[in-house]
Amino acid sequence: MSVDSTVGRDQLMEQEPEEKMLFTESAKVDNIKKFLMEFKDESENYKYLDRIDAISGSNLMIERFDLFDFERESKNGFKIWEFFMNQSSEAIKCCKRAVKEVHATRHGFEASQALDLNILIDKSELEISVSQSIKNKFVNKLISLQARVTGESEIKPRIVKGVWLCKDGHETEQLEKPFVCDNPSCKHRNLELDKDKTDFEYYRNFYLKDFTNVDHNADALICEAQGELIDAAKVGEAVNVTGYITIENHKNRFFNILHLLNIKKVNEINYKITDSEKETFRTWTKQPGYWDKLVTSIAPNIYNSKLMKTAYLLAYVGGTRWTKNQRYWINVLAVGDSGTAKSKIAEWGQLVLPDVYWVSSNSGSPKGLFAGQREQVDGEKVLEVGPMITASGRGLLCIDEFVRSKELFPIFYSPMETGVFNSATVGGHADLPCETPIYATGNPKNSNRWDEDKSILENLDVVERSLLSRFDLIIIALEQGTKDDREAIANSILDSDDQIQNNPDVIDEVSLVKLLLYAKTFKPTLTQKAKDVIIETFQDIYSKKKAEVTEKYAETNYRFVGMMARVVLAISKLHFHNETTEEDITLGHSVIKEMFAQRGMITNLANTYVDRVAQLIQVVLKESKEGMTDPEIYTALFSRFPEKADALRNDIGEEGNSRTKNRRWRAIMDSVESSVMVEVQQKHPRKLCWLHDQRTLGV
Ligand SMILES: [Zn+2]
Repeated sequence: MSVDSTVGRDQLMEQEPEEKMLFTESAKVDNIKKFLMEFKDESENYKYLDRIDAISGSNLMIERFDLFDFERESKNGFKIWEFFMNQSSEAIKCCKRAVKEVHATRHGFEASQALDLNILIDKSELEISVSQSIKNKFVNKLISLQARVTGESEIKPRIVKGVWLCKDGHETEQLEKPFVCDNPSCKHRNLELDKDKTDFEYYRNFYLKDFTNVDHNADALICEAQGELIDAAKVGEAVNVTGYITIENHKNRFFNILHLLNIKKVNEINYKITDSEKETFRTWTKQPGYWDKLVTSIAPNIYNSKLMKTAYLLAYVGGTRWTKNQRYWINVLAVGDSGTAKSKIAEWGQLVLPDVYWVSSNSGSPKGLFAGQREQVDGEKVLEVGPMITASGRGLLCIDEFVRSKELFPIFYSPMETGVFNSATVGGHADLPCETPIYATGNPKNSNRWDEDKSILENLDVVERSLLSRFDLIIIALEQGTKDDREAIANSILDSDDQIQNNPDVIDEVSLVKLLLYAKTFKPTLTQKAKDVIIETFQDIYSKKKAEVTEKYAETNYRFVGMMARVVLAISKLHFHNETTEEDITLGHSVIKEMFAQRGMITNLANTYVDRVAQLIQVVLKESKEGMTDPEIYTALFSRFPEKADALRNDIGEEGNSRTKNRRWRAIMDSVESSVMVEVQQKHPRKLCWLHDQRTLGV
């Protein structure tokens, strides 16, 4: 088929509907009435008559499949489905009339006139992007698109039927103020609007941009909402909208306006968590290997990278406020070799998790990331907020190559700690909340390789120490060294989505999102035991830091205390606890230990029973060439440390090495498995081994 004939066919398709629709407006209304009165659903109910009877001045939803079915079965040649899809503006107008006429036959003329009716349509087959919607090809067709609401106007009234009075009481009907009275014998000017007889409609403009693009220069689509749809979306939300586009003149410029017929929040649809799901999630936390499985499920197509995944997970869920002055959200900085998984995790999060934004630093102006007065495409000046504000208290902002964006540092410096953005600096009138965790990435300045002998500050060569201390977790991602590693990474890249989702060692996406959203609702308290461990750990790290001559741990200071509290609280939330347990504390402790170990600082504190036993198990694993099962580990533990047998029995408890029956053994083994030096070699039964030949820690 030649290119020309394809073009010709396209043109034909666009002309087709107009050629076939040789119906007068009242014939069209009659046909829609026929649909409303005759359509029966699967259970033989007159669906639309029921809806019209139930309506009280609000929305009436029409489902597109019903139109399609009705068209297929009707014999009179009126293509109702095609009419709604291809001449939407007229179809909606006719549909309003039809609904009112049907309503009038059942409830009287006056009641039907009082209806403030809005016709909704569930969805269109034609899914386009925001940038396509701005082009004229789709004018007047029913379309659906996914977008982010980036701005909104105030609610505005507009006259749909204007009645103007002169001093003698003559009425002139006109949309805009008439120049002179309509009465032929009257010369009055300066007519006044009769507010009682005039009909107003109220609307709000939403400004929509492409879902994945928070770039400020991207085109926005103006989207007009009426009726109950006026409050159906908020700035910052990701939405799926359905409507039709018309070209409108506004101050002598032409704009494509999307007239909204339906709007749905994208992340709201599938994530209602039922009581039985909550119960299931609680059961999971008591199963062996829960923590490992949870961490693995973060960006499951990325091989290993345990510590980075853990940090991302903790940032997304966050801690909880234990005192008024303390920050509860967790900021993460992922640095290291370029080309490692640190940006991939951010990319995954944006696609899978609700309220996650991902911006590249060069497209993110301070105004765009926080808030600013911005002139919209139609010339309206509207306070537009960016992801730092919209994700406040619920999401996560990922900033790629943050460390290279010096111009962002001053504006981030205070909000990252206080969670408040002073909008007076951008023409706003109130402080805006921005309790938004940041996951930032950075490559070394001078080469693609991370120099392990140098400090983070030296490697990055741009971030000031004070800014670095705003980050709770700093993770170093290094390229993986061995041949086996490379093979495993290559394999994981080639895994299909199905393979990943059907992997029994990974939580499926929908359950994961629900689990995380459920975890976010918990507000555990910090127990005295947790406080004691945090203080002891701080003392340990502080004394190690003093002994070091290098700048390696320069950013470690009293902020460490708050950081560890946040980490432990986040872990507690992920186990649905109402107060931090000894197991939560240990797990938090081990995450922090791993993080410092990346920089060569080994902390050996054994503050809890979990730490005490886990450390000895690590010795046993390290000394073994083979992978070991739980019973083998348990036996080896007692023969390797006979002098500690009593203490071990006391710490492990009487139920021995059963992860299902013994909560303490489960916590110990979870802690062992959370070490980056330990690999789960086999799942059923579980077999652990020590990674003897790993080039570096923390990968
Ligand atoms: Zn007059």
